[in-house]
Formats: sequence, structure tokens, C-alpha cells
Amino acid sequence: MRCAAHALVLLVGTLTLGAADRPNIVLILADDLGYGDVGFNGSTQIPTPNLDRLAASGIRCAEGYVSSPVCSPSRAGLLTGRNQVEFGYDNNLADAQPGFDPSFAGLPVGERTIADRLREVGYVTGLVGKWHLGDQPQFHPLKRGFDEFWGFLAGGHRYFAAKSGEPEPDIECNYGPAGALTYITDDITDQCIGFIRRHREQPFFLYASYNAPHNPLQARAEDLARFSHIKDKARRTYCAMVARLDFQVGRLLDAVNAAGLAEKTLIVFLSDNGGPADQNASLNAPLNGQKGMLMEGGMRVPFLLSWPGKLSAGQVYSHMVSSLDLTPTFLALADAPAPDSARLSGVNLWPLLTAPQNETPSRSLLWRFTVSAAIRDGDWKLVRLPDRLPMLFNLREDISEQHDLALENMERTKDMLQRLGDWDVRLPHPVSLEGAEWKRLQLNLYDAKYPLTQPTGGEAPKMISEKKTTAGH
Ligand code: CA
Repeated sequence: MRCAAHALVLLVGTLTLGAADRPNIVLILADDLGYGDVGFNGSTQIPTPNLDRLAASGIRCAEGYVSSPVCSPSRAGLLTGRNQVEFGYDNNLADAQPGFDPSFAGLPVGERTIADRLREVGYVTGLVGKWHLGDQPQFHPLKRGFDEFWGFLAGGHRYFAAKSGEPEPDIECNYGPAGALTYITDDITDQCIGFIRRHREQPFFLYASYNAPHNPLQARAEDLARFSHIKDKARRTYCAMVARLDFQVGRLLDAVNAAGLAEKTLIVFLSDNGGPADQNASLNAPLNGQKGMLMEGGMRVPFLLSWPGKLSAGQVYSHMVSSLDLTPTFLALADAPAPDSARLSGVNLWPLLTAPQNETPSRSLLWRFTVSAAIRDGDWKLVRLPDRLPMLFNLREDISEQHDLALENMERTKDMLQRLGDWDVRLPHPVSLEGAEWKRLQLNLYDAKYPLTQPTGGEAPKMISEKKTTAGH
């Protein structure tokens, strides 16, 4: 995959834009948002007019993947453009395990982020919101390519200001007072808008890293009131949080327009992993599974790109793309293609998105997450788990992964299993581990049943599990 990716980048190198055309880049990341919980992916329960507006202004990637089904490794892949398991970042961050050096619990300092690379070619870079790539000084975002940081280092955060007796929010800011929280989804947007206004005259990279709708489930009263017809409290709260996120993304889009930057700005929206039905009552329908799994519901996410005047409006791109493709795409647009030595995992999407008649490259995507591994090759996907035969699905015909075709396609199963294994054994050991108890919990997720349809009435269907499950943090 790596060789093919590099060949493609070299091939299209001449198609990159000149320095004068370099866009601002706004990367909006949601956290634990279900594939089926946005209007543009068919939600019947949560209106998302602003995200739908963004989709209508650009390209919706129907098969957009992240490189891990949980937060921290997904962000490591997203920000480096390298499949994070190729540098040992398999696991979510957790307490150090015996024999593991806690100073490695973060994005390895030898890796360069997209912020590092864009800053090097003249972009001003800002992170607002969640980091989750290490809380020790060597991993701090201000040392990983970001000029400005307002946000928090951990994997989650409360939404409201602390009440009397509760610990104060640990929001950091390097360009002014962090201020008191109002509702963090609102506050993140305020900071993003300030960044855009401060830097409207220079090319900028803004990483708008919302923690919504990750738990804790905390919503504003007026948003909850909009969903009072939903009896289930968790689902009602989740819907309110997603609606608030949508409203705030709308404010962010309006700020780009108001600054006169709409035609100078590429906006990308995606979630860091699939929705964890067991934690925040999210819905990934029609996809099977959830966060923490290598079924589609764990890693196929809402995924949009918009740049008015440069990308066609209202298009759907139906071939698979990866969050790993964003770094090579951004670098091509910044007129700074990465050298081979960067060993990026993805491809520059620009020639594919701007000229759909171009032949889509033959490619495979690979995943490894603790006990699980998977490979997608064309329409086919194979999932490997430790306690059962490998599973093979044809995603073109079976988006919900209901029909395991492994035994009926033994040659394909053998071939894909071998390629997955060949890759797997070349990977380095993980640089940190989670507790061993997570392995059983993650495996149990594969024995639960997940709703595959949108609700037609007020209530959303729930996942059904007879075993204890959890998707991780
Ligand atoms: Ca997440």
C-alpha cells in the first residue's frame, strides 16, 4: 500500500496548487459521533442543518474511514498521516502497564504532525479543544506544531463549569486567559472564531477538536427541550448534544464566510471513531458495530470536504477514503508535498475529488486494534479476531455486514488473511499498552447486536448485549 500511495502522490505532484492559491484549512473533528446521527447520512431523529449545509457545499465521502476505532490512536493517525500502528501507537492512552516506560505514553516525539509540516511552510496553526495524544510536557501540542492552543490534554472533559466543590476545569490557553466554561461546545467555537479573525490575513490551519458528543452526557436545557419527545434519557441527551454541535459548526462556517474566506478555505469534517452505543446512546445505522470494533460502525464515520469554487457542490464520493489521506492532501494543497522519507500511509485525494473521471487507485486499507485486525480490499473486507474464524463481507452488497462469506470464498479469505498477517508481523511492538481486561471487553462487543435502521417513531432502537461490553475511553 505504501509504495502505491507514494507513486500516486508523485504522479499528481504537478497538479498541486501554487503557493498563492494555498487554502486555509479548517479540520473539524467530532468525538464519538455515530455514522447515522447526522442528516446527511440519513438520521431521522437529529436535525443537523448546518452539517447538511456543509455537505451540500462540497463532497460527502460515503466510505470515509478512520485508522482506529478509538480516540487516541485515531488522532495519532489523523495528525501524522501515518497508520499509527506502524509506529507502535496501537492503544488508547491508559495507566502504564508493568515493564512499559510511561514516558512513551503519547504521540512518539519522532513523529511529525500535519501542524509541524504546515507551520514549516508558513501556516499559522491552532488547536482548539481535545488533544488526547499525551499529557506529559514532551507531548504538549505547543511542541507538536501548534502555535496556539486552547483546550485540554485528556481524552474527555465536562461540558459545564465546575460546581462548588468540584475540581476546576483544566483548560489551557497560551494566547490569553482560558476563561470559565459556559458550555464547552460553545466555548470551543468561540475560540475557533477568534482564531479565524486573528489570522484572516495569513494562511492558517485550524484544528477544531470538539469533544462532543463524547461522554459525559451533558446537554443544555434548551437543547434537551427540543428532544423532550424522546423518553430514553441517554438518547435524548445525546441528541441534544449533537444538535448543539451542529449549531456551533454553523457558527464556525458563518465566521469563515463573514471573514471573506469562504473561497480560500478548505473545511473538513469527520468523527474520530464510530459511535459507542454502549456509552453515549449513539446510532451507527445502517452500519453494524460500534466504537472499539473493526466492523463498519467502529471506523466508518461521517466525512465531508468542502471548498467552494474548487470542489463541486453536493457530490458524493463513493470510493473508500481514509483520515490518513488528509495529511498528503493538505500538503499538496499547501504546495508542500511530503517527501518519501515521511512514509505517509495515505494518498492525496485532490485529483480524485476534483476529477472523478480519473481512475480510482487500487488500494487496500489495513487496521489493527488490540485483539482485532482487518483489511479492506475493493468491495471486500476481512475481520480477524482471536476466538473465531475470520469473517469476510462484501460491503457493496452488504453494508451492514450481515452475511459472512468467508467459507464460500476460501481463496479470497486465505489471500486477504495472508496479506493482513504479513503486514501485522512487520509492525513494531506497541509503545504502550492498556490493561489486559480491555481485551475481553473489546471482544465481547462482537457478540452484541446493533440496530441497523433509523427510528421511525420517537425512540431509537438500542444495542443488545448479554455480556459486559465497553468501547474504551
Ligand atoms: Ca472518540
